[in-house]
Amino acid sequence: MQKVYNFSAGPSVLADEVKLQAQKDFLNFNGSGMSVTEMSHRSKWYEDINNEAGALLRELMGIGDDYYVLFVQGGASTQFEAVPLNLLVKGKADYLVTGNFAEKAAKEAQKYGDIRIAASSKDKAFTYIPDLDTVEFRDDIDYVHFTMNNTIFGTRFTKFPKTAAPLVTDMSSNILSEVVDVNRFQLIYAGAQKNIGPAGVTIVIVKKDAIDHPMAICPTMLKYSTQAAADSLYNTPPCFSVYMSMLTFRWLKKLGGVAEIQKINEYKAGLLYDFIDNSSFYTNRVNPADRSIMNVPFVTPSPETDAKFIKEAAANGLVSLKGHRLAGGMRASIYNAMPVEGVKALIDFMKKFETENR
Ligand SMILES: *Cc1c(COP(=O)(O)O)cnc(C)c1O
Repeated sequence: MQKVYNFSAGPSVLADEVKLQAQKDFLNFNGSGMSVTEMSHRSKWYEDINNEAGALLRELMGIGDDYYVLFVQGGASTQFEAVPLNLLVKGKADYLVTGNFAEKAAKEAQKYGDIRIAASSKDKAFTYIPDLDTVEFRDDIDYVHFTMNNTIFGTRFTKFPKTAAPLVTDMSSNILSEVVDVNRFQLIYAGAQKNIGPAGVTIVIVKKDAIDHPMAICPTMLKYSTQAAADSLYNTPPCFSVYMSMLTFRWLKKLGGVAEIQKINEYKAGLLYDFIDNSSFYTNRVNPADRSIMNVPFVTPSPETDAKFIKEAAANGLVSLKGHRLAGGMRASIYNAMPVEGVKALIDFMKKFETENR
């Protein structure tokens, strides 16, 4: 089997240790004689998985008892609607539009209330984060929504909006990659398939006192109160995705937790950005202070050379480097499970490609 380094933005690379454990467990989980994909979600075995996954996530992120941790379905995109349906009480919210997903979130919310775009970075192709010192928010709003890491354009918030309003954030592509103080937020959501596990489960971390006033039209399945009351077992959960997430949480804990992986992530991103910045061949268009440590977009001098790069990189075992269709060029997603060696292999290839194509 050919070993590849997978730079996909999502679904994305998982740790070998996690996949090997899943392989070991696949036919006979914990002496049950069954696979996790076959067993009742009401079984003791699955109850243990559900509980351990929740407890480990709480431990890794320092989530207090005043928050629910929910495992739901529908991806982060369904949260674009669930958030306003559950949290709009006064009927108003402000959104920061810093990328495609942030824009989609605002668009869905507009169906349910008075949504104002407080700031946008669309004027410069989402290559920066608006200056939060100058962004003004309304006083009488239910929340401010922003996307902490912009997966497609490779930007991230390093500071949070200055407002007394509750904060809601989409952490789909940076959850567990850096230390974040959960207490600053009313709600955090994240699809699992970037930094945690297979697609299928979406994580919602929500303040307990925020879930009691869903809009009358909010579907039962989208009410956080439904999921909280049932311990995320209201209907059949995506059992295997939750199980794989649990394995990733175990792996991360063993590695030393979020503070430890953050150091590794900063090191990996630093290697790649330093190389790009010192090259006259490759360019990253993002404002340096706002650069993501998870998704690194870059281009060569021409779209034709980009296409050649992507093709030759794949032939050299560096796969899924094609940028999102909205951004073009290349994008290296270097999530938690991407080893340092993978980033070094990419840089070695970039050097070689530059010499051959300059
Ligand atoms: C991938 C992604 C989404 C969409 O996630 P789905 O689970 O596919 O709905 C939303 N927000 C961000 C920041 C993402 O990276």
